Order: sequence, then structure tokens, then C-alpha cells
Amino acid sequence: METLAVHGGERRPGPEGSLVFPIYQGTVFSVAPGTSYHDLRYIRLNNTPSQVYLHDKLAALEGAEAGLATASGMAAVTTALMALLSPGDHVLAQDCLYGGTHDFLTQDASRHGWSVTFVDAARPDSWVATKRPETKLFLVETISNPLMRVPRLDEVAAFARREGLVTLIDNTFASPVNFNPLALGYDLVFHSATKYLNGHSDLVAGCLMGRRELIDRIRKALNHYGGSLDPHAGFLLARGLKTLALRVKAQNASALALARALSSHPKVAAVNHPGLEDHPDHAHARRLLRGFGGMLSLRIRGGETAALRFMEALTIPYVAPSLGGVETLVTRPAATSHAGMSPEDRARVGITDDLIRVSVGIEHADDLVADFTSALDRA
Ligand code: PLP
Repeated sequence: METLAVHGGERRPGPEGSLVFPIYQGTVFSVAPGTSYHDLRYIRLNNTPSQVYLHDKLAALEGAEAGLATASGMAAVTTALMALLSPGDHVLAQDCLYGGTHDFLTQDASRHGWSVTFVDAARPDSWVATKRPETKLFLVETISNPLMRVPRLDEVAAFARREGLVTLIDNTFASPVNFNPLALGYDLVFHSATKYLNGHSDLVAGCLMGRRELIDRIRKALNHYGGSLDPHAGFLLARGLKTLALRVKAQNASALALARALSSHPKVAAVNHPGLEDHPDHAHARRLLRGFGGMLSLRIRGGETAALRFMEALTIPYVAPSLGGVETLVTRPAATSHAGMSPEDRARVGITDDLIRVSVGIEHADDLVADFTSALDRA
């Protein structure tokens, strides 16, 4: 993965012999007379040189035939759904998804004529009863936000294949360093590239990878809906990708060390990290993933007040939403990423008001453990 992150999808040599693929900022390029609409070379049509270079690099990271960059992670998932579904279609979705995806499915899907059933991704025996003749697609996340649940990923792919469903998976939290869904039989993978893929909290982007035929269909929908990625942001993303493996491997190790240290602190009521032996998904996560990721969440004794005091007492992390960058971030999902969910839905899936999510950066693990421990002692 280290080698793939640096060299995958690269042009060798690049234009003028450059090692770094340049930014082609032009909006439009000349084409042969008679070229069809989707092949006219224009930034919104997602086919200018900087975009095509980035698509190849993204595809290489997931071992895909083709890749596509989008203006955000939300543009990736919404455009994929709009490209693949028709009015009357039904979707199965994991019950605890990133808040934005969940909100889109609960608040917008019906206006497109789609219905959605949320399923417990840990209970494969419950899925068949939810399947209908009009079910088209199964949507899951590799590691769910913010409880770090890992679905039975192999059983999702096998069930969907048996039932003729398209599988769409959000691999943002794992990143391609820890898991490649296409190799396990998924049809399409997407990322909020805003997070680990870029890794520096300085751009918004998304991407999709999969079979060429599916990616071409989604590119044509993206051409109409307009969520294309600007070449400047694409340049920064390609630069961030080069250090992906180094960053994520360090984050895997530090998150596990921090999760272990927090688990043994008397003020901590619970720690959610799939690398911990007592995590409900540890056994299959260990079998399916190459690493457990840089994300964890915890509950502190003393409820929301203690949680807020603890966050204030930390000195290294920033209190901020988002994730996957080099700086450690802490946030309270009930007030940020999952604020759009009803309190009842949050309670049902276990997103309590005192839950704190941590995106572990690349600071030294010993410094993070010392800072978190001292903040707990003072909270
Ligand atoms: N998927 C996950 C798991 C996320 O955490 C996010 C954003 O936080 C998204 C998708 C949406 O990504 P973006 O903010 O780039 O639209």
C-alpha cells in the first residue's frame, strides 16, 4: 500500500518529465468536431487531464477498474444513488450511518420515490425478511460512525450477490489501507476524501470506485447534477494520497494504544474501538480488516457535563467535527454529525449525549495518552 499510494495510477514520466502531475486549470479543451456530449472536455464533465489523472490514482488504491472524484463525500453517495435508483425502488441500509447519509435517506429519498429499510448489519438472519421484489441496493459502512461497529461485511456481499442487489459501501473510516471492499465482492465503494484520503483537513472532496460500466453511469449522472471536483482541490488530494499509508498505519497504532489506555481509566464508562478484544465486532473485524482504523469513541462517567468538562481539559486535540486529518480531533456526535437524527433514533442506536468521538492524528501516541489521561483526571 505504501508503494501503491506513491506510484499507483501515476503517469510516468508526467507532462514535461514532471514527477508531480500539474494542475490543468483550464475549464475547456479542444476536441474533434462531432464529439458526443459526455466526451466534450470540460471540467463539469469530469474528464479534463487533472481529473482523469486523479481518477486513475483513486481507482488504483481500491484495486478498481475505474474511479471518479466528486465535490464532496455527500456528492459521491447522493450521485451514486440518483444514478442507480429509479422511482419505486427500495434500499436496505445499515441502521447506524454517517448523519448526512442517514438524513438524506430519511428526509430526501422519498421525494425521489425510493423507500428505505434500516437493517441491523450485525444480524444477517434478519435481512431476508426485509428484502422486497423492488429492493435494488444494500448500503453499509466499513466502520460505522460513531460507534465503530463493523458489519458482517462478507455476509453483506454474499447476501447481495444471492439476491441480485447492488452493494454500495462507505469506506471512509477504514480507508483503502485497512480494507478494500471490491476485493470482497462489493460493487461500488465511496469515500469522503475530505478525511483520510486527503488527510490534512484542507479540502472537501469525495470519490467512487468500481467497475467501469457502473462508474461511467455515475459519471454521466454527475455531469448532469454538477458535483464535479475543481482541479486545485484534486491536486491537493493527489498530494495527500501519497502519504496515505504512512499516516493511516500510524493512526491505527495510536488509536489502539489510546483505546487500551482509556479502557483501563476509572472515569471511562465505555470505549468503542474494533481493535479492543471486548468490542462486539472484534472477531470478524480482525478477520476482515488489515487494521482497525484511527477512530474511537468513549463515554465518561458523569454524563454530558463531565464529557464537556473533559473536552475542555484536553490540550492537544481540537474540539471540531470531521476526521482523518493529522491533528487529533474530538467531537460530541449528538451535537454535531448526528444532530439531524431524532433523539429517539439516536437513543435506539446508542448515540448518547455523553458520547465523545476521537479522530486520532499523527501526534506521538504517548503524548496523546498522557493528555487524555490528565484531562480525565481533571474532568
Ligand atoms: N461518510 C462519512 C463516514 C463521513 O464521516 C462523512 C463526513 O463527515 C461523509 C461521508 C460526507 O463527506 P463530506 O463531508 O466530504 O461530504
